[in-house]
Amino acid sequence: MRCLLFACLLFNTLHAAALDRYQVEGYQLPNGLQLLLKPGSERGHVAIRLVVGVGFDDFPCADKELPHLLEHLLFSGVDASGEGGLEERMQALGGEWNAYTSNADTTFVIEAPAANQRKILDLLLEILTRTELSESAIDAAKQVVEREEGGHYSHLQRWLDRQDLGHNASNQLAVELGLKCAERADVQHLTREQLEAVRKNWYAPNNMTLIMVGELDRLLPAYLERAFGALQPIEPNDHLPLPEIHDQAAAAQRDLPRGWVGNSAKIHWLFPEPALEGLPDETFDLLKDYLDWALYRHLRLDHGLSYGPWSEREVLGGVGFFSVNADVERDNLDDARQVLEQLKARLLKDGLDPDTFARLQQAAIARQAWAVQGNSALADYYWGALGDYEGGHFTDPAQALRAVTLADANQALRQLFKQPGYLRIEKPLLSDEQLIGLGAALAGLLLIGLLGWRAYRRR
Ligand SMILES: [Zn+2]
Repeated sequence: MRCLLFACLLFNTLHAAALDRYQVEGYQLPNGLQLLLKPGSERGHVAIRLVVGVGFDDFPCADKELPHLLEHLLFSGVDASGEGGLEERMQALGGEWNAYTSNADTTFVIEAPAANQRKILDLLLEILTRTELSESAIDAAKQVVEREEGGHYSHLQRWLDRQDLGHNASNQLAVELGLKCAERADVQHLTREQLEAVRKNWYAPNNMTLIMVGELDRLLPAYLERAFGALQPIEPNDHLPLPEIHDQAAAAQRDLPRGWVGNSAKIHWLFPEPALEGLPDETFDLLKDYLDWALYRHLRLDHGLSYGPWSEREVLGGVGFFSVNADVERDNLDDARQVLEQLKARLLKDGLDPDTFARLQQAAIARQAWAVQGNSALADYYWGALGDYEGGHFTDPAQALRAVTLADANQALRQLFKQPGYLRIEKPLLSDEQLIGLGAALAGLLLIGLLGWRAYRRR
């Protein structure tokens, strides 16, 4: 009996800890730095994420790479020992760091041994405040950024991009709709003054969130107040408005050449997500789960037309898109399209199958119990969900998923699929057979030419 009581208590505390995941202590320093501190389950380790509210979206097309270039420069060294010396100091502390620039933010991602967390935060503070942006470091960083973005921007690639043929299907559609820049942004023309301005105007405590998850130092709050509290706030900047679809029209259907020869192809069918008054965003998440399964059932299991069909949600500029996609053999393109069209028509007519919807909703809720494991994943989760944080907690996705009704999902489905959507088909210029045919035709022409030449000579 006592054992049972103990087990019950244990289960209860475990349960409380699991619920607790969305409960996070957060407060602001007087200089505006937002702190989120969460004791984690794994000991000996701290996951640190410093999120700076500046990303690609904050700059016009030509200067888009500015925040990315600055992010790289901040690792170029704080003294004469340069980049190497900086890395050696991090190695000596047993931590690892990296940074990422996205559309909305620039984030420094650090894994640290708990014992050295304050020293590692010191190092982070040093690179933010003491990095000298020298011309030689800028040149070196430009080369790295250029390589990351796919190497030197050739004339051919630039020309293809201008015809919006060089992008992947969704980006290409985004360019057509005026949601994305047509050309890749260059780095060579960016100046030191511009970089200094980005640092001055955006790298300020009232534009940053520091997330820490793990075995947190007892002295951490006092340390943060002293060290990070010394950063000077700025007048906050306005973010550029995100591009919306205005009156640009995009073709209903287009073929996008991918490489020269081959038999593989991809179908992408993209739909702008309608704004649904009163329905949570999770409605489209559940719709995505449903479509993933429907595509797999029909295209792969029933018809064997596609190995890994999938649906996807992504944001392009300021617009959310929902897509259904399939990898297919070139010869099967028409059949696969037909199956997709039938699926769409049937869903519009009959709505979602209630049993399947209930099963997938249950699975999505159950997934929340194990989807985020460990300090680092939790820190990443908070980073991704920052917009949701309010009054000491994040919203529990399981609750939001549970609240979606079949009627909600059907409403979202109908609004989404009553649009014709945009069809994009990626395939190589020639199929294998076409290449062989072309080769044979050329050989034939050559032979005829030779015979003609011989006949002419003989005469
Ligand atoms: Zn980079």
